[in-house]
Amino acid sequence: YTFTLVDKETCISCGACQMAAPDIFGEDDDGLSFSLIDDNKGIKPIPEDLLDDLEDACDGCPTESILVSNHPFSADAVEQQ
Ligand code: SF4
Repeated sequence: YTFTLVDKETCISCGACQMAAPDIFGEDDDGLSFSLIDDNKGIKPIPEDLLDDLEDACDGCPTESILVSNHPFSADAVEQQ
């Protein structure tokens, strides 16, 4: 499985990831990007059919703020599929 979240400390609100992967990334009230999948927790697997979009978003982020891992970012809150 693949998990993702946005590091809001470094996101510069360029919007590129929302263009590349509109089903994964959205804009929060501060204009920063976040993962719509699980409210930026990085604990819910990205659906298979969105993985290409995720890769595009990751490649296109100018600040490398999109974190991707094969493990949930919070081990104590793994969602079962
Ligand atoms: Fe933020 Fe990167 Fe998305 Fe731009 S592409 S909005 S810097 S996470």
